[in-house]
Amino acid sequence: MTMLNARQALERLREGNLRFVSGDASGHSHPTRRADLLNGQEPFAVILGCSDSRVPAELVFDQGFGDLFVIRVAGNIVAPSQVGSVEFAASRFGTRLVVVMGHSQCGAIVATLESLQGRARTQTGSLRFIVNRVRPSVEKVLATGRTANPDALIREAVRANVRVSANQLRRGSKLLQRLVDKDGLVIVGAEYSLETGIVDFFDGVPSPAGSQPPPSE
Ligand SMILES: [Zn+2]
Repeated sequence: MTMLNARQALERLREGNLRFVSGDASGHSHPTRRADLLNGQEPFAVILGCSDSRVPAELVFDQGFGDLFVIRVAGNIVAPSQVGSVEFAASRFGTRLVVVMGHSQCGAIVATLESLQGRARTQTGSLRFIVNRVRPSVEKVLATGRTANPDALIREAVRANVRVSANQLRRGSKLLQRLVDKDGLVIVGAEYSLETGIVDFFDGVPSPAGSQPPPSE
């Protein structure tokens, strides 16, 4: 099988998510597929998502064994080990689509908001590490002063955090930057809705006609 390009990969994710939402998910756990993959893998997309138990990447995109290279960490933050994992998949397998996927009601975002608003429960040093990664994007949302409604504030903060993570992948690695500039790698941001099951790709999505994604803010 030849590797899908970024646009084809995105289309396949969209179709899978549609099947998931409409209750037509195919269920992919066939033993022969597992055996087929013993000699190698060609995942068509990398998903950097949150560890939240309600956002399992393979299920929400209705994909099976060998389809997705999934990295999950609370708050879908980007630290060196996440960058390294994306570099590994993009260079080793030729995967050309990376999706940073946040989700509604994300606990890591809520914890960061609580910490910034002085309502934080005690956090361990390691949990603070995650909050500190999320903090700058949430601070920016708070600084606009636009959003008084707590739910809207969380929604905006989730998206801001996804944008920041996607940009960190685009700019925080010479290897990824080169693949983006010269080799068709596309890094997009998305939000999964716990309420509807729908994944909204909202950042860096390539236009249908052109070959380059629009510039990200
Ligand atoms: Zn989360």
